[in-house]
Amino acid sequence: MLAPEVCPPPTNAPDQPLLTGWQSGFAALGPAFYTELPPTPLPAPYWVGTSAEVGALLGLPIDWQQRGDALQAFTGNALPPGARPLASVYSGHQFGVWAGQLGDGRAILLGETAAGLEVQLKGCGRTPYSRMGDGRAVLRSSIREFLCSEAMAALGIPTTRALCVTGSPQPVQREELETAAVVTRVAPSFIRFGHFEHFAARGQEAELRQLADYVIERHYPECRNAANPYAELLRQVSERTARLLAQWQAVGFCHGVMNTDNMSILGLTIDYGPFQFLAAFDPGHICNHSDHLGRYAFNRQPGVAYWNLLCLAKAMLPLIQDVEQAQAALDSYEPIFVDAFMARLRAKLGLRQARADDEQLVDGLQRLLAEGAVDYAIFWRRLSHAVQDGNFEPVRDLFADRSGLDAWLLQYQELIALDDRAQAADLMLITNPCYVLRNHLAEEAIRAAKLGDFSKLQTLQALLAEPFAEQPGFEAYADFPPDWASHISISCSS
Ligand code: AMP
Ligand code: MG
Repeated sequence: MLAPEVCPPPTNAPDQPLLTGWQSGFAALGPAFYTELPPTPLPAPYWVGTSAEVGALLGLPIDWQQRGDALQAFTGNALPPGARPLASVYSGHQFGVWAGQLGDGRAILLGETAAGLEVQLKGCGRTPYSRMGDGRAVLRSSIREFLCSEAMAALGIPTTRALCVTGSPQPVQREELETAAVVTRVAPSFIRFGHFEHFAARGQEAELRQLADYVIERHYPECRNAANPYAELLRQVSERTARLLAQWQAVGFCHGVMNTDNMSILGLTIDYGPFQFLAAFDPGHICNHSDHLGRYAFNRQPGVAYWNLLCLAKAMLPLIQDVEQAQAALDSYEPIFVDAFMARLRAKLGLRQARADDEQLVDGLQRLLAEGAVDYAIFWRRLSHAVQDGNFEPVRDLFADRSGLDAWLLQYQELIALDDRAQAADLMLITNPCYVLRNHLAEEAIRAAKLGDFSKLQTLQALLAEPFAEQPGFEAYADFPPDWASHISISCSS
């Protein structure tokens, strides 16, 4: 989904510049949208993790992972020639409350490359929008963001990408003393709902229009032909958001901080913080230990995304100029979410055809999974194998209440019998991941990386890059979380 239309072939000329063909992109919007400033260097940088796939998307030289200029550039110590670094300003609602001006407090955009992708360094020093923050990101959270961005991409879920993480021995104070790191993020755009809210709240209608026109021009060109291009933009953003949320809910992804400044105008997963893939299925699961009221609980995510869209609609109202049209632009959110979610669930169940009682089948299953606190990923993978080989015992073993499950299985197996069983299993095995980024797996990779051992991170990255392909010898990565996993506390601290 992020694949650019034009992707320069990788070359390996020794003197080839790291990144070439910068385009003006976001910087062309002008100074009302950002502050230009360079990243603040970090001492003694070292590589933590790299993604060859994202390097290829950017058209980087094939040896970039070995190049000193790349290490320095992606730590923010030396700019690639032609980069025009800036921090953008946005505002937003945090936990349902208007927070006023926020902005890139620790992220700096280097610019947009020839491939139409923006490159942003996260954790590279203070900006005018840092407020009380230190402008830094720690190794722990940077590894989490790196691994999850690439894991989501491999699952086919729209997301910002991560090119690399570099680390530095520079101490950074969080709950504990940690060390600094920088994640290089890549996306067609990092514009958030909060960018729109920013100019709307200040009554800067000219800039609001300029922003909307830029987003339409660059990312939603088909809106230009609509009777009301701004209402059409809102409708398309709403639909992309609905599809994104359907993917999150189907795969069991909990974002954790769905503030309006963490909502991408392109419908990408953005700003990985206290996220979690569900282990034991719990619809009300709260993954962010700082979210005391559970505003961003797993089952509230689709509703929160809609609430965030209402904030975007309100911000765009001066452009749309008609409340009814703005409201109508959001009308498709719910039906699209339900359709997309049900389509994902049918694929997870191996059902190729929609049937009237599909929702009842899914509701019944979710109730059983919740009652039994059944591991979400393991359930789906075992069900896939059960459909393949006809042995449902490993699925039944996951449930204490066998009678409830057996009644559900009876109904399900009747449906499966109507279809080609092998085809159903094939579909399930490429829909239900074997490997997801469980908290404890990330934690093990982080603990090793803190000691200078990046092999665990690389193994995990490789498994998550092909999440549907079972790798002999790596069964532990697809297994239940160990007891200690429940004590991992994931807060906003990053
Ligand atoms: P988040 O909740 O991580 O999306 O961050 C909310 C706002 O706080 C954004 O404007 C961030 O740029 C900013 N922010 C978060 N952490 C830091 C930090 N360590 N230094 C400066 N700004 C930060
Ligand atoms: Mg954020």
